[in-house]
Amino acid sequence: VIRPDGRPSDARSSGDAALAIGIDVGGTKVLAALVRIDPGSAPVVERLIEVPSEAHDDDLAHRLADVAATLAEGADRGAIVGVGAGLAGLVDLDGVVRRSPNAPALEGVDVAATLREATGIPAWVDNDANCVARVAQATHGPAVRNLVAITLGTGIGAGLIVEGRLLRGARGFAGEPGHMVVDPHGPPCPCGQRGCWERYASGTGLEEIAREAVRSGRGAGLSGPDDRIVGTEVSEAARRGVPAAVAVMEEFAGWVALGVGNLVNLLDPELVVLGGGVAAAGEVLTVPMMAALESNPLVGPRRVQVEVVAGGPLAGAVGAALMAVAGPA
Ligand SMILES: [Zn+2]
Repeated sequence: VIRPDGRPSDARSSGDAALAIGIDVGGTKVLAALVRIDPGSAPVVERLIEVPSEAHDDDLAHRLADVAATLAEGADRGAIVGVGAGLAGLVDLDGVVRRSPNAPALEGVDVAATLREATGIPAWVDNDANCVARVAQATHGPAVRNLVAITLGTGIGAGLIVEGRLLRGARGFAGEPGHMVVDPHGPPCPCGQRGCWERYASGTGLEEIAREAVRSGRGAGLSGPDDRIVGTEVSEAARRGVPAAVAVMEEFAGWVALGVGNLVNLLDPELVVLGGGVAAAGEVLTVPMMAALESNPLVGPRRVQVEVVAGGPLAGAVGAALMAVAGPA
């Protein structure tokens, strides 16, 4: 695949540090970072801008461009080799966003062209889970050649590194396991199917499991003062040892492990990396998840490593910057 925007050829071959801008486009906020990328060490965030975003902001593409331009202003523009943006959904190899549940206003928009025109810097747009996979690849280096990055947010995304390369598929849409059906009689999914994995194993799924625990009288300490249930508060309660929250996280981790186990059987990765807002739960998620994977007779013996992506909430922006430098490979 050749990048349509003429990325400078020295960006990949040079051993020198490069600067790149990475933008993580979320449903409620845009996180943009100026990142120093040195092939020999971990990427370093030099500047960070956070602005609120709205799903139906028709001007979102230009606001992303403004944020990128602001970051570029403070730096030596000639030293910035690329601008990358990552978002949930389907991004075409030509830089046009085809489907974006968090930012429907971007659908049909050539976001890469908008960024490039606003900044004069080569631009790249990609799926946010692919960006997280890039961070994991940069963290572990070439020793890890097969990894699965899963983003657990409102839905589920995946970035798949197979034999050292990001798996793109025919149109660039590979890695959408959130819509693998795990129960054909399960709850309806906005995609039109029933029982998609992300109905159970996303942040939305976590909150539904907690709500069900409350409905069945097993929810002591799960809901806030106004009976609201927020996934991050459930995982926080689990960290404090609240029994109902621990039980919900264990059930949730079982659902995450079910889909991850399917992916492990399919791709045989050495490493599974978790990103997205729900990954911030940390060990209250990863420990029961690894226990579930280990108890699976086909998956357990492989001893797959499971970890939360480096950089936590900044991983999406850092990964988008890495993507801008590395391109589609
Ligand atoms: Zn679905």
